[in-house]
Amino acid sequence: MATTFLLNASCPEDRKGRQCTEVCGCERVRCDRWAGCICGEGWTGSRCHTRCPTGTYGRGCTRQCTCQHGVCRPSDGSCNCRAGWYGSDCSRPCVNGRYGRRCQYTCACRHNASCSHVDGSCQCVGAWTGRYCDIMKGDDGEPLVETLVPIVFFLLLCPVVLLVLYKKGWLCCVTPDNIEETQALLELQHVEQDLTQGLQPGWLGRWEKKAKNLQLGNLIGAGMFGEVRNAELRRTRGTIPVAAKTVRVEDAQSYRDFYREAAILIAVHEEKDHDVRRSNIVQLFGVITKADQKYIILEYAPKGDLLCFLRQQRKHATAHTQVTFLLYAVHIARALQKLQKLRIAHRDVAARNVLVTQDNVAKLADFGLARDVYATTQYVSTPRQGECVLLPVKWMALESLELGEYTCQSDVWSFGVLLWEIASLGDEPRYDDRARLTGPVLIGILRRGVRLKKPTRCDDGLYAVMRSCWRDDPEVRPTPESLERRLEHLRQILDPNFITEMETVV
Ligand code: ADP
Repeated sequence: MATTFLLNASCPEDRKGRQCTEVCGCERVRCDRWAGCICGEGWTGSRCHTRCPTGTYGRGCTRQCTCQHGVCRPSDGSCNCRAGWYGSDCSRPCVNGRYGRRCQYTCACRHNASCSHVDGSCQCVGAWTGRYCDIMKGDDGEPLVETLVPIVFFLLLCPVVLLVLYKKGWLCCVTPDNIEETQALLELQHVEQDLTQGLQPGWLGRWEKKAKNLQLGNLIGAGMFGEVRNAELRRTRGTIPVAAKTVRVEDAQSYRDFYREAAILIAVHEEKDHDVRRSNIVQLFGVITKADQKYIILEYAPKGDLLCFLRQQRKHATAHTQVTFLLYAVHIARALQKLQKLRIAHRDVAARNVLVTQDNVAKLADFGLARDVYATTQYVSTPRQGECVLLPVKWMALESLELGEYTCQSDVWSFGVLLWEIASLGDEPRYDDRARLTGPVLIGILRRGVRLKKPTRCDDGLYAVMRSCWRDDPEVRPTPESLERRLEHLRQILDPNFITEMETVV
């Protein structure tokens, strides 16, 4: 009698079933031998070929959209607001005389007319009429020729005067904020719907500093795309030390990175509950966008980035050194909570992008798109949407590698790799003993269930936290809040020098 052995191995590609004879026909996604097509977020159907029905999103389309005046993206539920609305759930009407999609236009209504926040149409009051309520009505309700003549004359003269002033350079300081702001928004909106909708109109202008108040000092970090210098910023209350970050190459990618970083930091700092003294996101002092050289002005972190900092500690390392640095992980878990609240994904959470202040507080930094090439060996070029992007593959979640999806849960995956970096005092992550990997090879490795190995002397409980961050399904990864709790608990039981808040680690 023949005996059938049921092997739990995978079937050949696009096959499933006990005998691997059934065809899956999955679209875009992997076929599992037993479960068939495993749909990504926002897709459903036996072949994962159908978008989530309107009003639902997420894996299995089980989550309800919260967008009030807009449409919800099926993958992560983020809202694409209709004209006249903004905010992460599109519940806020445009304010300050702005209207249209992403509140990007300025109302032109005159003479106390009210302006529609949706389409900018004007509701005239009193004796005014016309599209912009700038024409006076006669007794019979028709515009008065006598009134029109000076207005038309004035309107014709105005641009000429403005042009002359502009050419003479007298208008350089009143270049409309809106031009730069709108351009930046247009650049960003392709990649960051939530971010652009969360920004309050006038965001860039409110943070603009004058170039003459920035005194540049030494170079403290330089890469292919930008450089960071220490500097001094003159303010009304005196001068403060800062770090000035700029882009070196004026291409579309670095331009977008510059504005993404500025926009995220502004969104974080303008959030109503933001407390700059307690935040674990690097402090922003301002931006310079109206000079030839653009700058983002940040607090200066004298101990530099966490990766270098960890590596420096190796020579004095004891059995407990790694554990004392868990405090930094707690700080970054708090930074992720803040980003989650604003529905912003960092996309490159890694030790090299964490700064350490004089008081041993870790702060999340470097919010440009994932293009950090300081550690070139970790990055590979992957063609996507016709352009070549540099990706930190070994820090990336499965869904980011496979589908290009970045969410707060994919940041949690990268946070797991950051924990691994702390536990190994700044080693370079390796899979299958290979330091250099392309995206497709790494996807294969991760899909086989392989994960980074437990670093030497790493506590089992800590490794279990890392593993939970690297779960295939983003929905079942821990939240930043629970990570903070679990890491605080581990510190309490593992760190012999544990003291509560205001800790000193070195
Ligand atoms: P890029 O986006 O070009 O990679 P980063 O923000 O990563 O630039 O900065 C590069 C390096 O400069 C960092 O690794 C860090 O050593 C240093 N650096 C950046 N910002 C600061 C800061 N605010 N204070 C001190 N050093 C900084």
